Amino acid sequence: NRAGHKRRVFVTGGASGIGKAIVKAFSNEGYRVAFCDRDAERGKETSKETGALFFPADVSDKEALESCLQQLFDRWGDVDILINNAGISEFSPLTETTVEEFDRILSINLRPVFVASRYLALHRKQQTFPNPYGRIINLCSTRYLMSEAGTEGYSASKGGIYSLTHALAVSLAEWHITVNSISPGWIATHDYDQLTSQDHLQHPSGRVGRPEDIARMCVFLCQDGNDFINGENIVIDGGMTKK
Ligand code: NAD
Repeated sequence: NRAGHKRRVFVTGGASGIGKAIVKAFSNEGYRVAFCDRDAERGKETSKETGALFFPADVSDKEALESCLQQLFDRWGDVDILINNAGISEFSPLTETTVEEFDRILSINLRPVFVASRYLALHRKQQTFPNPYGRIINLCSTRYLMSEAGTEGYSASKGGIYSLTHALAVSLAEWHITVNSISPGWIATHDYDQLTSQDHLQHPSGRVGRPEDIARMCVFLCQDGNDFINGENIVIDGGMTKK
């Protein structure tokens, strides 16, 4: 699908892990890519490695996140693809978790999905010649449907993303933007080679996931013809949740 190669992509949390694999995949396909991350050092490294534009920004800071998008609107005219990937996985027993910690997880994992999607919609609304193409992909998790003790904040944030994706898909159809989520299972974001065979054998597929498994789906969803996949959550977990 080289036809879409000049499309403009913005990825949150693109300095490392799954986000970095997404930045790489789109860069390799010839898309114009920008990303933000709160880790400035890693962000600079990833930018050097991939040629993607980097903004040091914390997604929980509304102004900072909107400013990334605004700079891209000024520079590129529009953003075609928004990948809401930034997120933290912090777990602690319920009785040891403060309300402030719960709020903080939502402010990093969930609220920015709303902030960035809303800002893109506001931009599209102003266009005299509407962009006929758009994609939003939100990183959810298999924990939206199966949880564990001590994951209240994380599970709530991902459950929120699951439902927010539905609402956004309906609201953003007006601007030709499809909105889907991807729920990865266990993806080894570093030291993949250090995993034991036992780790791999837990999976029906016989291996743990790699960031590229998720990045490939992002590229697929952005192909021109795939605009009828909308409001969907795609589980990529090697069959783990079906065991
Ligand atoms: P990671 O920690 O390897 O990378 C996350 C990146 O986001 C880092 O570069 C980090 O600096 C950045 N980031 C974190 N908070 C930020 C903030 N407030 N502002 C800006 N940048 C921020 O994580 P990952 O495993 O690559 O996860 C990426 C996404 O995928 C997350 O939303 C995560 O919940 C989801 N996910 C991951 C897995 C997995 O097994 N790795 C499974 C399910 C879901």
